[in-house]
Amino acid sequence: MTIDIHSVRADFPILDQQVYGRPLAYLDNAATTQKPQCVIDAITNYYTRDNANVHRGVHALSERATAAYEGARKKIADFFNAKSVREVVFTRGTTEAINLVAHSWGGVNVRHGDEVLITHMEHHSNIVPWQMLCDHVGATLKVLPINEKGELIMEALDEMLSGRTKLVGVVQMSNALGTINPVAEIIERAHAVGAKVLVDGAQAAAHIAVDVQALDCDFYVTSAHKMYGPTGIGVLLAKEGLLDAMPPYQGGGDMIRMVTFEKTEFNDLPYKFEAGTPNISGAIGFGAAIDYISEIGFDAIHAREKELLAYATSQAEAFKGLRLIGTAKEKACVLSFVLEGVHPHDLGTILDREGVAIRAGHHCAMPVMQFFKVPATARASFSIYNSEAEVDALFTALKKAQEIFG
Ligand code: PMP
Repeated sequence: MTIDIHSVRADFPILDQQVYGRPLAYLDNAATTQKPQCVIDAITNYYTRDNANVHRGVHALSERATAAYEGARKKIADFFNAKSVREVVFTRGTTEAINLVAHSWGGVNVRHGDEVLITHMEHHSNIVPWQMLCDHVGATLKVLPINEKGELIMEALDEMLSGRTKLVGVVQMSNALGTINPVAEIIERAHAVGAKVLVDGAQAAAHIAVDVQALDCDFYVTSAHKMYGPTGIGVLLAKEGLLDAMPPYQGGGDMIRMVTFEKTEFNDLPYKFEAGTPNISGAIGFGAAIDYISEIGFDAIHAREKELLAYATSQAEAFKGLRLIGTAKEKACVLSFVLEGVHPHDLGTILDREGVAIRAGHHCAMPVMQFFKVPATARASFSIYNSEAEVDALFTALKKAQEIFG
């Protein structure tokens, strides 16, 4: 299976534009991906024909909205091979999903003296909620170290895990380094000491086929906007038994079965965790994005992204003064780097003028920057619609930046 780059690009109307008179090269896909026409159409059609509140209406529009919303949940369950739709909780995104688990599951299961183990390459959203929880209950946050290539030091895992470890939080694919982590192995080893595992799939889900049952992870979280879907919607996939035992995260409409002033009975899964009117159009757009990825298929996605990464990496390695941050053996389509003599933010600004959109900063992974002793990196992150010509445009623009800064 191969990707026909021209037809894939034609699916994304936003790509066909000029920025400062130059063709846009959108290389900021780790921040958010662009949206194909089918996702835009799904959202437009919903608001054009079906818009109504879900679950409570007795009229045709509400029934159609509910069917579309719940249909999206089923698509997500199938895509990630969740056991049932009861294991699929819509959230605002990865961040909210992690906060939900830290608050609801963590609030009950993590106590004084317990430990939560995360890794040195986590996004802030998989650090801060655990730090807040640990501070609150008097637990200890431990950090699995990384090496100079930006890989987890797996040899340290067993000595860091113990009967005190209640949860391991690990990113499947690092947004700051591109590293793909051996999550299956981590889950197995964590389970051996009785710890639960949360996998942060924000970056991974658009690039790697994920089977939550095969992985046997307890919690899997991701965001639609990194998977060609809309912003403001994501998902928590969790084992039903865990969700059943967890208290609700927020109270309000839709998450209840019966309310009196004395007592409230909570709704069934997954609604117990979906208080208030949900992001209906977002879920529908998410479902359309899942269809889009499934149609292309992960074999083709993987082959294409590997090709692009190899092409970009070979140019980066040959580029004088460029230091790659993150050179893991198992790596996804991300090039994080610093260029001698040019601050990443200046680089980002100069590249923008050349039509090349990259990200410059700490990528919400300050501990990674601290490890590599850099204040920030420039990051080019590629997707299925990026071309070799766009990679060339990146390096031509980098050359220009180098010349400007002498
Ligand atoms: N984890 C990782 C690895 C990410 O890349 C991101 C987004 N940059 C997040 C978590 C947070 O995702 P969101 O902002 O969509 O909640």
